[in-house]
Amino acid sequence: MNTVAASSPASTAPITLDAIIIGAGFSGMYQLLSLRDKLGMKVRVLEAADGVGGTWYWNRYPGARCDSESHSYMFYFSKELVNEWEWSERYPQQPEILRYLNHVADRFQLRPDIQFNTRMTSASFDSGHNRWHVRTDTGQHYVAKFLITGVGCLSSANVPDIPGRDDFQGQWYHTGQWPHEGVDFTGKRVGVVGTGSTGIQAIPVITAQAKHVTVFQRTANYSIPARNQPLTPEFKRFAKEQADGIRHIMNTNTNAHPFRMAPRKVMETHPAERQALLEAAWLKGGLEFRAAFNDTLIDAEANQVIAEFVRGKIRAIVKNPKTAEMLSDIDHPFAAKRPPVDSQYFETYNRDNIDLVNIRATPIERITAQGIKTSDAEYPLDIIVFATGFDAMTGSLLKLDIEGENGVKLKDYWHAGPRNYLGLQVPGFPNLFTITGPGSPSVLCNLPPAIEQHVDWITNCIRMMNEQGFNRIEATPEASDVWCNEVNRAANATLLAKVKHSWYLGANVPGKPQVFMPYAGGFGHYSEICNQVVKENYKGFRLSA
Ligand code: NAP
Repeated sequence: MNTVAASSPASTAPITLDAIIIGAGFSGMYQLLSLRDKLGMKVRVLEAADGVGGTWYWNRYPGARCDSESHSYMFYFSKELVNEWEWSERYPQQPEILRYLNHVADRFQLRPDIQFNTRMTSASFDSGHNRWHVRTDTGQHYVAKFLITGVGCLSSANVPDIPGRDDFQGQWYHTGQWPHEGVDFTGKRVGVVGTGSTGIQAIPVITAQAKHVTVFQRTANYSIPARNQPLTPEFKRFAKEQADGIRHIMNTNTNAHPFRMAPRKVMETHPAERQALLEAAWLKGGLEFRAAFNDTLIDAEANQVIAEFVRGKIRAIVKNPKTAEMLSDIDHPFAAKRPPVDSQYFETYNRDNIDLVNIRATPIERITAQGIKTSDAEYPLDIIVFATGFDAMTGSLLKLDIEGENGVKLKDYWHAGPRNYLGLQVPGFPNLFTITGPGSPSVLCNLPPAIEQHVDWITNCIRMMNEQGFNRIEATPEASDVWCNEVNRAANATLLAKVKHSWYLGANVPGKPQVFMPYAGGFGHYSEICNQVVKENYKGFRLSA
């Protein structure tokens, strides 16, 4: 192990390393371990928080829970780690995931090489020496051959710029920047803006505590019951005994989840059988609901059948017909926006301390000192919770102020949307790797396997460079163009690209260029492409000494 003391005092003298990694979540921790322990490199992770965990460090909102099943939401690179860790529930809560990531940090002695409470403020590439110069808000200056970002796809909070926000005399919070001490909703009138995966998880928990909750819904959403439960001893044993098989399924299927799509099409299945299959999938719950048929996201007519099934469930659960109508009036195909998974979301609307406001019909005009004013009413509130999502995929990368060759800034190179090769490298930014960057399957996947695949690919690439004496690797603009076309083609082959107000396209952030960002061609297929690129001597990359 080649540990570098991460606690060196602030100094203007540059600190020379082999690689700098940004972020100590799943990505940054595994990348550190790989470069340090497998390749013996001198590496440091810069982390803005005072602990590891990345998204699971910041997202502490009530009800925060993973939508991937626990036995798939973990590292598989170490058999010992798989065997020694035990999850308690089908879908782990945020504190349990954070405990897991702390366990990983301790078990592999990662902390000495992570510099906490340190935010990278800029990075620029010195072409003459093929080195990245990285500066931090603690005044440090690092020089390293490689710069690797592990900043997460959903970590830059999108707080809507609603007029009057600063006039509000109560408290407001964004779910992605939740106070560590928690928020006490007892006796409070709470407004929740946003009904994506986060809002749908938080609303039942907040409503159980608050005096009253008003939900401001812009777009009605599908949601599938999580059917969360404690894991049985049998399941725990199964997950350990079958770890290799589970890993193989995740690494070779479309979404890196531990199940495969059933090999059947909606319209080719008899309606009675279809109904029975959907009922069984609804009863089983979770994201696996999508796997009951394999054409849900390809065939609009098939999708309509599934969408109507879920709408019917919403109408059956929610007793107030007006509220049921608002919740089931969904304007996009099922799963074409990321489908939430819930615990008692629709059931919560049967309580008498919750109201739903349709802000598509009566938009929010402003926040006042007392609450939220829509076009037809004012709602007095003590607390506002913005569950309004993230400047996804590019937001955190662009905040880093990265400058490549010839002084070109990443934000300028991406002014019309992200362009790169395989989601891994941007032309003109040599020796910079972006773990789960835009253009890779990333957010369309269960992320830990996608992160392992990227980190392994980057590590093998750097190993090859070290062994063969290369100092520099960069994606060619031609390869990047071809890849961007492939990202578009893959998206357009599905219903995902049909939704114009989705964060997959950046449509949730005013002024953001609207480009479909993740690669929708499937995780297994994408991994094969990456492996083939290696077999063809890093086709599409330019390597030099
Ligand atoms: P999101 O899916 O982007 O949802 C944001 C919600 O806020 C939407 O309902 C959106 O309405 C609304 N909104 C945004 N700006 C608004 C504005 N100015 N005025 C009114 N409403 C506004 O964000 P999220 O729920 O945080 O989820 C983001 C992603 O994080 C998920 O899709 C998922 O990938 C991930 N996530 C995962 C988990 C998990 O695994 N447990 C949990 C939570 C989140 P529109 O739909 O009209 O834009």
